Amino acid sequence: MGFVRNASALPTLSHTTIQPSDIGIRGPRYNGPMPGGRHFLQVPGPTNVPFQVTSALATPTIDHRGPQFRELATDVLQRVKAVFGTTQPVVIYPSSGTGAWEAALVNTLCPGDRVLAFETGHFATLWSELASSLGLRVDLIPGDWRHGVDPSLIAQRLTEDRNGDIAAVCVVHNETSTGVLSRMADIRSVLDEVDHPALLMVDTISSLGSAPYFHDGWNVDVTIGGSQKGLMLPPGLAFNAVSTRALERARSARLQRGYWDWTPMLDANSRGLFPYTPATNMLFGLQAALTMLESEGHANVYARHERLASATRAAVQRWGLELVCSDDREYSPSLTAVMLPEGADADALRATILDRFDLSLGAGLGRLAGRVFRIGHLGHIGELELLGTLAGVQAGLQHCGLEVDPQGIVAAVEVLSR
Ligand SMILES: *Cc1c(COP(=O)(O)O)cnc(C)c1O
Repeated sequence: MGFVRNASALPTLSHTTIQPSDIGIRGPRYNGPMPGGRHFLQVPGPTNVPFQVTSALATPTIDHRGPQFRELATDVLQRVKAVFGTTQPVVIYPSSGTGAWEAALVNTLCPGDRVLAFETGHFATLWSELASSLGLRVDLIPGDWRHGVDPSLIAQRLTEDRNGDIAAVCVVHNETSTGVLSRMADIRSVLDEVDHPALLMVDTISSLGSAPYFHDGWNVDVTIGGSQKGLMLPPGLAFNAVSTRALERARSARLQRGYWDWTPMLDANSRGLFPYTPATNMLFGLQAALTMLESEGHANVYARHERLASATRAAVQRWGLELVCSDDREYSPSLTAVMLPEGADADALRATILDRFDLSLGAGLGRLAGRVFRIGHLGHIGELELLGTLAGVQAGLQHCGLEVDPQGIVAAVEVLSR
């Protein structure tokens, strides 16, 4: 029941007059007149793709071995580095973010290696399951899905590991299921104190381009990114920013790797090429997105996300609802996860809001399913679009009979008018 359904899901037409719901423009439960205006895609990825990017994506495909492609590849491979805060190589895969998780592990580790991971939420759990399936031994430190990685636990585990068995520490920077941003600077400090040889791998799929990030400054070995969140692109590209230390480790890493191997990729990239057919049009889109980020200014982009996030939290708190994130040092700039009171159905709320206002919100994932909904405020979004989103949420809450303070939207306006 999305905005546009596929043809096989269309209902058979039994009326003489075709209703909007018959052609899949609206959800089937909505019987009112067809409203104007655009769809609001406020899930925390994929995000709204701006016109500058969609038009770049529509560029006729070029020969990926020709001179124009080399120019494109050389340009994006260079300019994407600023988003990661690095001068080191960034590998670009035609893949989902999950592929880049796998790439980080298979390029650097050996079968049976121990990996330290933290159960911050759904995505951290999925990454650790992927690591186990590859034959790694994962120490998943349990968490309550309301906090980020506790830096003191990293210190403790690495200090206990006197033989240096732990080969990598895996951190999800922004846990998209909970709206919690782990404190990377503090994590870096404890890693420096314990001076352990483990590699540091960080998933920034939902923070890249939305929160300040320093791959070099924080001495991260592999940073994992994806296209469909803060980078304002459709799904389809994934990234590994790679440190010199990670490249050295890759020489002796023995996990099976083929498609994900950095070596042929970096070799081809150095000549403006890819070892297989690249996602050429996505690279045109990336080029346009990088131009947008550069012209707004990376620091301004981060400040805008911070501002939208704080207006969102003001609304949620005024409504009288609880944030999933329970540490005010760890609020996510890219999304806000909201807990509904016991007995309320977050999925029914989201379905109502989609039907009534054509606004998509993120579902509660994993153990938060049904209790939580998530408001994405990352990527291509401005203040008025956020206010429209929050107004849709408030109206939906009221429509579902949930008692919320209607001043919620006013609280958001107050933050944005400061
Ligand atoms: C979206 C997301 C992923 C998954 O990316 P896919 O493209 O769906 O494979 C992984 N980690 C985080 C933190 C995410 O937000």
